[in-house]
Amino acid sequence: MTAFWTEPDFDAHEMVHFVHDRESGLTAIIAVHSSHLGPGAGGTRFWHYAAPEAAVRDALRLSRGMSYKNAMAGLPLGGGKAVILADENRTKTPEMLAAFGAAIEGLGGQYVTAEDVGISEADMVAVSAQTEHVTGLPVRGEGLAGGDPGPFTAIGIAKGIEAAVRYRLGKDSMEGVHVALQGTGSVGGGVARLLAKAGARLTLADIDASGAKSLADELGAETVAAEAIMATPCDVFSPNALGAILDEKNIAKLDTQIVAGGANNQLARVGHGRTLFERGILYAPDYVINAGGIMSVGTEYLARRDGRVGKVEEVHALLDQIPGRLEAIWTKSEETGESPDIVADRMAQELIGRG
Ligand code: NAD
Repeated sequence: MTAFWTEPDFDAHEMVHFVHDRESGLTAIIAVHSSHLGPGAGGTRFWHYAAPEAAVRDALRLSRGMSYKNAMAGLPLGGGKAVILADENRTKTPEMLAAFGAAIEGLGGQYVTAEDVGISEADMVAVSAQTEHVTGLPVRGEGLAGGDPGPFTAIGIAKGIEAAVRYRLGKDSMEGVHVALQGTGSVGGGVARLLAKAGARLTLADIDASGAKSLADELGAETVAAEAIMATPCDVFSPNALGAILDEKNIAKLDTQIVAGGANNQLARVGHGRTLFERGILYAPDYVINAGGIMSVGTEYLARRDGRVGKVEEVHALLDQIPGRLEAIWTKSEETGESPDIVADRMAQELIGRG
């Protein structure tokens, strides 16, 4: 057995809870990195891992990531994450979800869950039959916080892109600014629509080429092949598909002044933030610019916990803070000569009392 708490990824986690339910076959890990600002909040991932160590590592890294994201989002929430270890066939049963919900309930609110990869809204509704510590549930009326986080994530990213354009290009308007967008799914599609409305010139790419083409036709945008988007000359490259795309090879291809998009964990390794900085490309740290979704589901949960219903206006008030937070990071980066990702991590660590 490995003493995983001696691994760098452990990073002084407050709690790592291993769950096994014999009857349903559920095996899960619930990790809470920090509860300094509030209960550990972060989604549940349902994934088949080649080895259990990989599942532990994923839970720990994602949970720490949520501590940083929630802190920089200005939410009174700590960071946590759960992974359910799926078998090769990804068997998911109502009994497993019930056992998972009961395990969360057993933690008495130390961990709050939501959707992540492999988990649907319907799964979360099933989990919510066992515990109230679930968020991102279907919205039951106009003007209420919660539900699908994608549209809120997109609004935050569009605001962050506008802030980057103001900061780096000195432009107060998106009129004519060329944005190359990778990924036109829930988040990327929303960003494209908002930027098109603001007058930006768009080039879109998705491995689902027909999806990208029909969105481009709707918005009067152009498309390029998925392999070509990172080398497209533009003012802003906006990654909204996969993580780990910013490596040495891809950064060398970029022909842009700004990288700002919603994909999680865009930097392949920590040092790649430095590579972007040295190339003179302004980077919007991913977990700061893509926090709109957690702002929405966090507001939903916190309001419900306080016996009221969260409002969309509350989420918009949080979204409005994204530009200022990014500008503070970029200014500090210029002052210190550190790359924005490192500056953001330090700010987050200070907010969670680990500065
Ligand atoms: P999605 O599945 O709706 O969309 C992803 C899109 O990327 C799909 O259309 C897919 O075809 C495309 N894609 C995949 N590989 C590609 C490639 N190599 N080149 C071009 N396109 C490719 O997912 P989403 O919810 O829009 O999430 C997108 C990213 O944003 C993910 O990294 C996700 O973790 C992150 N994110 C999402 C949210 C949210 O609220 N949904 C919040 C924070 C971060």
